[in-house]
Formats: sequence, C-alpha cells, structure tokens
Amino acid sequence: MSEQCQVKYQLNILRGVNLHTIKKECSREAVSNGRCICHLDDPNKPLEPLIEEIKKLSESGQDLDCSYFIFPKVPMRFPVAIRKPTFFVHCRFYGDVSFQGQHFPSYVSFHGAHFFGKADFSDDGNPYEKQTMFHDTVIFTSTEFHKEGLFKSCIFAAPPEFNGTIFHDLANFAWAEIAFSSHLLEFRQVEFRKDAFLDFRISGENIGIAFRYCNLEGLQISSLPRHKTQIEFENIKKWDEKRKWYQVRRLKIRDEQTLKDNPVKLVDTYRFLEKHFYDKSDYSLASQFYIGQMIALRKDKNYYWPSKVLNWLYQKTSNYGESKRRAILTLFLIWLVFPVFLLMMGMPVSRTSNGQVLVVTVNYGLRCIFDETDWSQFWRDYRSVFCSNLSLSTIDRKHELSPPPDSPQRVLLIVESLINVVLASLVVVAARRRFTPKKPTGI
Ligand SMILES: [Zn+2]
Repeated sequence: MSEQCQVKYQLNILRGVNLHTIKKECSREAVSNGRCICHLDDPNKPLEPLIEEIKKLSESGQDLDCSYFIFPKVPMRFPVAIRKPTFFVHCRFYGDVSFQGQHFPSYVSFHGAHFFGKADFSDDGNPYEKQTMFHDTVIFTSTEFHKEGLFKSCIFAAPPEFNGTIFHDLANFAWAEIAFSSHLLEFRQVEFRKDAFLDFRISGENIGIAFRYCNLEGLQISSLPRHKTQIEFENIKKWDEKRKWYQVRRLKIRDEQTLKDNPVKLVDTYRFLEKHFYDKSDYSLASQFYIGQMIALRKDKNYYWPSKVLNWLYQKTSNYGESKRRAILTLFLIWLVFPVFLLMMGMPVSRTSNGQVLVVTVNYGLRCIFDETDWSQFWRDYRSVFCSNLSLSTIDRKHELSPPPDSPQRVLLIVESLINVVLASLVVVAARRRFTPKKPTGI
C-alpha cells in the first residue's frame, strides 16, 4: 500500500487587503522517508519529476503552490510562465535557479526560502524586452540568498517586502526599476553581508528607501539613488558571527574599498551620510561619517600636501576635534617629551649640593641615549626642567632657569607654547562638540 507524503503547512494568502491563513496538506505519494518526490530533502534527486509536477500545478485551476519544495543541485530555469499567485514558501533551491524574464502577475511569496545557488531575477540579457517583472507584491521575508541574488533591471510594480532577508553574497539591484509611487521601500533587519548595489531606477513618484535595523556592511552607499528619493537609515551597526551586533569605533562604509580610485565620490558619499545623520539628530553617527570624510579627503590628489599634513595632525591629535581625550593625551605627551629635547640641547637646571641650590647649565647632547648616563641625575635634571618649563612656557621668561635669549632652546620653547595653545583649544573644541555638534559643510 502506498503511503502519503506527510508534509503539512500553513499558507498566508493575501486576497485583496485581507490575509487568509490556509492549512495545506500534501496529497502526493511518498517515495522515501514519508516524503513525496517534491518534498524529499535530497540535493541529488532528479529534477524532471518536479518539473512535471510544476507543469501540472500550473495547468490546474489552483494557485501555483510549490511550498516546501526541495529543488536538487542542478541549474534550473523555472519551467513554466507564471500566471497566478505563486508560493515558494520555505523552499530550498540547492542549485542555481533562474526566473529571468518571468512576469509575476500576482502575489508571489519566497518567505523563508533558501537559495543555495545563484538566484537570478535579472533581465534575459536584453534589458529592454525580457525584464523580470513583479506586478504585485513579492515577499522575501526571512529569505536567505547564500549565493548571488540578482535583480538587475527587474521591475517592481508594487512594493516588495524585504524583512529579515539575508544576502550572504552579492545583492545586485543595478537598474532595477521602482515603478510604484508614494511608498516606502523598506528594508527591515536585512543583512547585506557582501557587496550590495542598490542603484535603483526610480520611475514612480514620491519614493522613499528606508533601512531599519539592517546590516549595511556590504551596501555601496554611493549606489543609492539619493537625488530622487528620501533615504532613511536607522540603527546602523556592524554585524559579525562572534560579536553579533556591535557598535564600531569608526564605521567604515563598503565604498571605501570600491571607491578607492575615486576619493572625490567617496568624500561626497561620506558628506551625504554626515548631513543625513545630522538632520536626524544622530550626532554620534554624523561625527563618525565626518571623520570618514576627512580621512577620505587625504586621498584626493587635488588636495595639497600641506593640507594633507595638517589633516593628518588634526586626526592624530584630536580625531578631527571629536576626541577630547586624545587632545588631552597629546598635550601631556608634549609636556613630557619637550624637556628631554631641551636637556639634549642644553638647559639651566637647579641642582642642590651641600644644602645649597645652584643653577647649573647641563647639556646632555645625544649622550643620554648612547652613552652611559647617570640616570638618577638625569631624572633629577629632567624634573627641574619639566617644572620650570611648565611655568616658563606660560608665565615667566626672565626666570633664572630660562635658556639664553636667541638660543635654539628659546625657539623650541616658543614652538612648544604655540603647540600647547593649539592643543588646549582642541580640548575645548572637542568638549564643546558634545553639546553643540558640528554642522556639516558643503551641502
Ligand atoms: Zn509532499
């Protein structure tokens, strides 16, 4: 006696605006493990029986329900022209699958489906004639694309649903057309783990693109059609297997790699992001993108080298006026290091001998590095210069411990006080930015 396939499932079917839940039960004959040939989870099974089954379903009066089908590990072009609501819910496509040139006239759901091979929804090589077209809603909720997901030049006539979708590999929406109007194309909890090109063509009116709680690691931000659309980002973080979602010290966008040779466009992309987050009052992200922009600016060939040096110093000393801590640390470092230089050039120090305080000019030259030095004496002299330096550079230049006028040591002291003033103002700038964030420029 032949056994029946044991696959049972529920389908959510959209009829107009209402969602119906329908219980389904497979009525095919089981071939192995209580599964029919369509539902049998074996990547090496033959493809032909599935194609026969799909053709039969396509000709029947019912919806094209291929839910929980397992497609074997051979490349497949979808065998029939789709003419009705279609379900690929929780399907597994082990091989490459192509829907090139298909017109999906009604609702189609890939909810929970896994594409282990390439999933191809792009045009048929001729972008003007055989474009794939979704006339109605297409559902990609919780769908995983393990290889490339290709949507090149395909047309979305209704807003598609991307929610919890994972693109493990390339996601290519180059020239995909948004043909609906007054809607938000929302990517929610979508992960673009490798390169994602979202350079949509917008033919509809009043379109917004929103990324909420997405992993935008792979997104080429410069590919977004931002001149015609409102783009929203919410809660951008980085994702990785070990640390899951985490906040990074500096958010580097994927474009840093792809726009290596086009720093002008990279700067422009960062500026766009900075302005975007400033307008959204997310100042911490705005400042991260400001930093990215400044770093990218250094790669620009038209940017003069003195500006590049200043830019570099500005980054190293205070992270472009964004880090108070870094500015304070640099200030301390200057205070600690300059007395060493002064001692090596020759400086008057106060020494105590037999209870008397004497002013002696010492000159360590390069000895203190290469020769045997009385380190305890050096340390005492260092302290003397350090203390006098703090007071001398700020208050009293006619002190008995000042270096002689017109000496190089004097010049060094002047340089040091200038650096101190600059660093102190950087500390103030960074401290103020907490309360009044920097306004983006140039837009
Ligand atoms: Zn079955």
